[in-house]
Amino acid sequence: MRAIEKKMPATEKMPVTAGSVRAVFSRIYGNADGVRIARAPGRVNLIGEHTDYNDGYVLPVAIDRQVIVAAQPRPDRVVKLYSVEYDIQVEFNLDQIQYDVEHRWTNYFRGVLKMLEDRGIRLKGMNALVTGDVPQGAGLSSSAAFEVASCYAAQLVSDFPMDPVEMALLCQQAENDFVGVSCGIMDQFASRMARQGHALFLDCRTRAYEQVPLPSRGMRIVICDSGVRRGLVDSEYNNRRRECEAGVAYFRSVLPDIIALRDVPVEEFEEYGGELPPVVRKRCAHVIYENTRVQRSVEVLKAGDIAAFGRLMYESHESLRDLYEVSCPELDALVDIARGLRGVLGARMTGAGFGGCTVNLVEEDAVDGFCAAMPEAYARAAGEERAGRLKIYVTSAEDGAMELLV
Ligand code: ADP
Ligand code: MG
Repeated sequence: MRAIEKKMPATEKMPVTAGSVRAVFSRIYGNADGVRIARAPGRVNLIGEHTDYNDGYVLPVAIDRQVIVAAQPRPDRVVKLYSVEYDIQVEFNLDQIQYDVEHRWTNYFRGVLKMLEDRGIRLKGMNALVTGDVPQGAGLSSSAAFEVASCYAAQLVSDFPMDPVEMALLCQQAENDFVGVSCGIMDQFASRMARQGHALFLDCRTRAYEQVPLPSRGMRIVICDSGVRRGLVDSEYNNRRRECEAGVAYFRSVLPDIIALRDVPVEEFEEYGGELPPVVRKRCAHVIYENTRVQRSVEVLKAGDIAAFGRLMYESHESLRDLYEVSCPELDALVDIARGLRGVLGARMTGAGFGGCTVNLVEEDAVDGFCAAMPEAYARAAGEERAGRLKIYVTSAEDGAMELLV
């Protein structure tokens, strides 16, 4: 992350190297013999919101912040895990991996090891360490980064075959079944599979994916965390899912082949959608057109038309605000301010909504101006208190998980 004005309430990015990780590891475990280091990034979704559970399309990138898991094999079945950020170490046995109610942060790691063992992969015991600079709970998926880094580190230490897609799916399963959070496949997929300079076009039904090139220079991805966290995310999320299901049930009555909203073509929606109750109709309209926007995004990006992509981002935001109704005044303010700033090509809320982050596509030479102007304008629109919690992360599209080599 580049240096930004002092005023900017950004959380600093942590410069980590294999050398610095090994040094900390040695301090905790006495030596770093045989240690292997895996890193996996957080992610941000550029377009395709609330499409994943409708079997649709998403277009995330991996960001330049990561979770790192370093691990050293042990001759027994004991696992030790130390967190640099929490300065706590836990210990458990691979033959008895249980959910930890006291140290909940360990469950991402435990869950991944449990899923591996349950698949019949016999792991080696490990001394392990975790550290990271993906902001936690901000919607940039530090949890998926932690899972993927854990799985990758386990693979480096215990040397079992596992292809990248399988790893992403196993990590999702760990979050669903062990941690108990029902997330889709996007986060783990992006963290494992993303490629520098590319967005990852993912079909959430078939898991077919494609690396879509982003402009090779002159552009940055800027994430604004509104600082807003609203409790109604879960209940509203469940309402949206129900409304989508109501839409599917209706369309299936006229078009029997339809399994999810992803299967409803725009023409059919326009022909038959008038019969739907107004709220369900709005929700369906968002999902159906959002899927076409993701497909269109892939086309325009391949054609190098970044301005057209930016317009699709704005359209996505308007649809999330007016049709899906998952935005909030603070996210709308961030997008409206961005729209008025020089060098901003597109902006939208990203994630489930009711707070969290916006994602902005900004010309590189306009990034400093963006970061300087945003806090003040946000304070005027949303109040000083909100603006005090604003965080801005300047990033670009980075590589997915890999080993960190000396
Ligand atoms: P998000 O995925 O949006 O960041 P989650 O609530 O899904 O938010 O996951 C955040 C949790 O992941 C944290 O509360 C913590 O338990 C775990 N986590 C993330 N990064 C780290 C880290 N560097 N060290 C230990 N635990 C971490
Ligand atoms: Mg998460």
